Amino acid sequence: MRKLLIWAVLAVLAAGYWLIQRSPDTVAAQGAPSPLVVIDPGHGGWDPGAVRGAVYEKTLTLAVALKTGLLLQQRDIRVYYTRSRDTALSTTVIRDLNQRAGLANRLGATIFCSVHVNIESTGTMAGPIVYFTPTSGSSYRLAKLVSRALVPIAGQFRPPRPIRQWVLNVAQMPAINVEIGFLSHQQDTLNMQSAAHQRQLALGIAQGISQYLGR
Ligand SMILES: [Zn+2]
Repeated sequence: MRKLLIWAVLAVLAAGYWLIQRSPDTVAAQGAPSPLVVIDPGHGGWDPGAVRGAVYEKTLTLAVALKTGLLLQQRDIRVYYTRSRDTALSTTVIRDLNQRAGLANRLGATIFCSVHVNIESTGTMAGPIVYFTPTSGSSYRLAKLVSRALVPIAGQFRPPRPIRQWVLNVAQMPAINVEIGFLSHQQDTLNMQSAAHQRQLALGIAQGISQYLGR
C-alpha cells in the first residue's frame, strides 16, 4: 500500500513537471511579438523645420505622427515614437537624425516611418508624397502601399519617390518618409492644421503600413 502511495505521488509530480515544461512553449507559440513601428515626427525643439508665418513643420509632423501611432496600436502593432512632444533629440541636425534612426536600429524595429512637410518655390504643389530609400526593395513596397492608401487625400496615385536621405539611409529596416503636404501651398497649409485632415493623413499612413505588415 505504501509503495502504491509513493508511485501515486511520483506520478502526480511527473505530470506537474510535464505541464510546467510544456506551458512556456504554448505561451511562446501563441504570443509571438507583434511588429514594431518606429514613427519619427520630423524636427522638434530648437529645430522648427519649415516655417510659414506662425505655422511650424515640427507641430504638424507631431500631430499626424501621434494620430498614426494610435491607429496602428488599435491594430495590435507596437509603436515607438522618436519624440512625443516638442523636443529635439540632439543639439546638431546630424546627431539628431542619427539618434532617430539609431533608436529604430537598437529596438530592432520592423518599420521606420518619418513624417515631414514639403516646401517648394512655386507655391502650386499640394498633398502628400512618400519617399523611400532607393536601394531597398522592401522600402519601395511599403512606400507604394502607403502612397495608394493616401489616394483619397492626394486625389490621385502619386508614385513614391526614391530619395537619398540621411535618416532613411541609417535605418536598417524598411524605411519611408511621408511628406504630408506643402507648407508653400496656402490651402494645404490650412488643411494640415485641421484635425480632420490630420486624421485622414494618419488613416492613410496607418493603412499602408498595416497592409505591408499583413494586419
Ligand atoms: Zn522636414
